[in-house]
Amino acid sequence: MTRHTEPLATVFERLIANYGPISIQHFMDESNARYYADRDPLGAGGDFITAPEISQMFGELIGLWLADMWIRAGRETPVHYVELGPGRGTLARDALRAAARYGLEPGVHFVESSTALKDLQLATVPQAHWHADLSTVPAYGPLLLVGNEFLDALPIRQLVRAGGGWRERMVACEDGRFVAVAGDKPMDAAVPEDLREAPEGTIVETSPAAAAILYEVAGRLAEQGGAALLIDYGHDHPRIGSTLQALREHQKVEALSMPGEADLTAHVDFAALAAIAQARGCTWLGTTTQGRFLRALGIETRAENLATFAPEHREAVFSAMERLIGEGQMGALFKVMGLAGPNWPEGAGF
Ligand code: SAH
Repeated sequence: MTRHTEPLATVFERLIANYGPISIQHFMDESNARYYADRDPLGAGGDFITAPEISQMFGELIGLWLADMWIRAGRETPVHYVELGPGRGTLARDALRAAARYGLEPGVHFVESSTALKDLQLATVPQAHWHADLSTVPAYGPLLLVGNEFLDALPIRQLVRAGGGWRERMVACEDGRFVAVAGDKPMDAAVPEDLREAPEGTIVETSPAAAAILYEVAGRLAEQGGAALLIDYGHDHPRIGSTLQALREHQKVEALSMPGEADLTAHVDFAALAAIAQARGCTWLGTTTQGRFLRALGIETRAENLATFAPEHREAVFSAMERLIGEGQMGALFKVMGLAGPNWPEGAGF
């Protein structure tokens, strides 16, 4: 495990004192790199919990969705399961087990930056191959790609309408606290025309890193065939305002208060990502809510089967299902976006 002796807050303080404010993008990028590098943030003892950690049903239904696509596309091999940011490897394990029942036994490729999480993934999915980014993932054969709560961890850029025009949103240090300030370079050219005269304080957020990854994913699907599911909290039409937030021990904390010690996320702009995928020649299957998607794939039937098989777990199974699909829980806030290569079939659930 990597051990850092100097807190990232100290590094940022020194950097800002010497060179001036740093961008929100820089702050988030380094914070999350440090945050994920040497810890397992998932689960009850960590900072947040994700859908695959709530119930095996989540990964199983994703595995079935992938198998269904692959079968209807003609069972082409070799075929590769690719997961972006696989966490503990739980989703992959459950999805691959479910897919194998339908004859889908793909090569397994994980794109992961955290050494600590790689160790856990190795224990859960020993046959996986690890990659620092998509460039080394096999270039032949369809890709069945999944990313759950991956895009929300990538650094966002924020622009803010200040008195004199649009500026990049930066982080300064005042009395030992990190605060957001407007930068001093004009950035008007970077915002859409209709927002140029927006009221002072308006914030526009973009994710150049998420856009770059989607560009690459969609290019691969267009070239090699395959399908992708990207699942995250976010919105399916463009919005304004900051969605940057920090979670530590399951509580929201002030976003800039503890760099490297809390999970920083931002909502995913699925509309922007769908447009990129289509421009690359992919089919956008749709963007729906996690609740609707899992219901359409039969989560209620699956829960009933699990409960019949193990009646002592009936209550736990149904309460986990409710967490995944309930409107006030993950069901409405989380979105699922489906993509497919040209000439691949329509996806179930959209
Ligand atoms: N998908 C898992 C984990 C979500 S947490 C789940 O649903 O439980 C985010 C994951 O993305 C972690 O595995 C983290 O280490 C990884 N990650 C974050 N930023 C990354 C980056 N820039 N490159 C590769 N992996 C990254």
